Amino acid sequence: MTTTVKTTCPYCGVGCGVNLSLPANPNEVVPPVSGDLDHPANFGRLCVKGSSLAQTIKSDDRLLSPQIDGQVATWARAIDTIADKISQVVKDHGPDAFAFYLSGQILTEDYYVANKLAKGFIGTANVDTNSRLCMASAVVGYKRAFGSDTVPCNYDDLERCDLLIMVGSNAAWTHPILFQRIVAAKQQRPSMKIVVIDPRATATCDIADLHLAIRPGSDAAIFSFLLQESARMGLVDDVFVTQHTNQFDATLQQAMESTPDVTTTAAFCGVDEHDLMTLSQWWASNDKAVTFYSQGVNQSSSGVDKCNAIINCHLATARLGKEGAGPFSITGQPNAMGGREVGGLANQLAAHMDFATPGALDLVQRFWQAPNMATQNGLKAVDLFQAIEAGKVKVLWIMSTNPMVSLPDTAQVRRALEKCELVIVSDCKAHTDTTAMADVLLPATGWSEKDGTVTNSERRISRQRGLLPAPGDAKHDWWAICEVAKAMGYGSAFDYQGVHEIFAEHAGLSAFENNGTRDFDIGHYRHITQAQYDGFTPTQWPVPEGKPEGTKRMFADGHFFTQDGRAQFVPINPSLPALKATQQWPFVLNTGRLRDQWHTMTRTGDAPSLAKHTAQPYVDIHPEDAQRLGIIDGALTRLSSPHGEVRLKANVTKSTPQGQIFVPIHWTQQFANAAVVSNLIPQTVDPLSGQPESKHGVVQVERIPLL
Ligand code: SF4
Repeated sequence: MTTTVKTTCPYCGVGCGVNLSLPANPNEVVPPVSGDLDHPANFGRLCVKGSSLAQTIKSDDRLLSPQIDGQVATWARAIDTIADKISQVVKDHGPDAFAFYLSGQILTEDYYVANKLAKGFIGTANVDTNSRLCMASAVVGYKRAFGSDTVPCNYDDLERCDLLIMVGSNAAWTHPILFQRIVAAKQQRPSMKIVVIDPRATATCDIADLHLAIRPGSDAAIFSFLLQESARMGLVDDVFVTQHTNQFDATLQQAMESTPDVTTTAAFCGVDEHDLMTLSQWWASNDKAVTFYSQGVNQSSSGVDKCNAIINCHLATARLGKEGAGPFSITGQPNAMGGREVGGLANQLAAHMDFATPGALDLVQRFWQAPNMATQNGLKAVDLFQAIEAGKVKVLWIMSTNPMVSLPDTAQVRRALEKCELVIVSDCKAHTDTTAMADVLLPATGWSEKDGTVTNSERRISRQRGLLPAPGDAKHDWWAICEVAKAMGYGSAFDYQGVHEIFAEHAGLSAFENNGTRDFDIGHYRHITQAQYDGFTPTQWPVPEGKPEGTKRMFADGHFFTQDGRAQFVPINPSLPALKATQQWPFVLNTGRLRDQWHTMTRTGDAPSLAKHTAQPYVDIHPEDAQRLGIIDGALTRLSSPHGEVRLKANVTKSTPQGQIFVPIHWTQQFANAAVVSNLIPQTVDPLSGQPESKHGVVQVERIPLL
């Protein structure tokens, strides 16, 4: 006899539905999970990471008790220690001496109470997240164009389009179930064209009709060219542009100056002119076109401009809000979207409102009955860790993330955490590169134990349902935050009887005085009961009152969330990455994810079957570069940059172009000493989004001679 719940995979932003079963006898092995046939993201499919979830449920490395300075402590003492220290530094140095660094792995309800405590009660907007590293540029791109952070599309559009342009995405490995859906659609309809724009020949290229192996970082020029080609070929929807947009003429003029012709553009991007014209012709002949973009676009010093270059093309041709059309940003993490919804970025307030949104501060203050509202943006991730090193932020609460591995310039992150007066780390694992830096460790419940909601890349809110009891003294993240809030004297505002009450409040805020001028509205759920929350079915927001079925696509009516209701074209002058290769640092370093690992391997590292795909960290290097440097396949190499050094085995392959190398992001000091690739990445960020340029470092590569 088993008990089964429908829950959601905790890995990537596809957000697949999962059936998790437990045997009646707790000593029996947890059976493999299965895909939820009813979930609209995956219809029963699971990729290899999702399929192996049961292997990661029981870990020998669970954090089971709070610890203070390495000594086991009670929760009561840990809560008091945290609350007292936050209160003291706020009194002595002001509210901005405190910060949260959160994660796209935590649930929307966890995010909501963290954001509320910091921005409404402590009075700081220093609430940032590892989602800054994955999709912050896409957020700003949407906001500049639409006046809101709104993904217009849904996953069905990937199957219904006639042209799919995949930019900066190796979806075959990073979003495998979406890739499977695309493969199936192409098999059914071979006339569907797929274009992959990526410097590397990735597994995603296996289904491409055209691969544009562009010069790293030159993506925006492709779309600038496509915009002016749209005008040249008469594809511009004049009625839509005139009635529903601003600034088209200036944007087109900029495109004509930046990418005046195919020869100039092809030379800038390092691609064949004929291939560029093929893309242009397919863009002209396929009205149903989706541009699918991810980290390769976002992780750039000009990531926001790249996003807007893409969106400009869709606005000009009115290819959004319709079946099989739209600019579709795909998020990396399972709940990067949920974090955005509650305001879990330092430049957001709450419920998709910013500090600069007219009336928003007053509205949120009244809704929360908040005594100490933050009034301006906080520090984005890289700025935050620099401020910690500078002694400006003195208490940092890290939740469910591993910045010692994932943030660029590991040495700087280490200096910051060593300088910080109190580092609190909430995690379900006892030993990560970041828990090693903690003064206070808080044991958190894990995926199979937590209740709450997540939102996937198509705006679909799904339930995560816990089935297993919390081990040891592990507690839910939302509970820990609320206990600290109560200890600081904010009890009545954080006195939730269950997680469904937090979700109901979150829904209430989204609908509070929302007369349709804000995109995010899930007011239908504002009085949700425990039973309704238990039975929640996956639904795409907005879900305003009277529309329980949710919303498949956005902007079909040509109304946007700008002040005048019109979308904004953004003139783009394409640029290349901030750092250039030099004689001293001659190789361009690209980083990314593998098929069978997730982030810093804190969970997937527990699954023996997942290590079979790639057991060790490595560096991809082109055969000609390898030969020139005397490097043979499997040989140990040293990669060095102005920021650090790592040692990796060489994988000699033509998939990475000459002059470029590729290193997976997953390995940590814990799993592979001296192989953390973020050691090599500079803290260069997009000036608008603050997203680091993690796809572009410059390095030296050397053979390590055998002794
Ligand atoms: Fe999980 Fe993503 Fe795989 Fe779906 S595609 S099973 S969400 S890792």
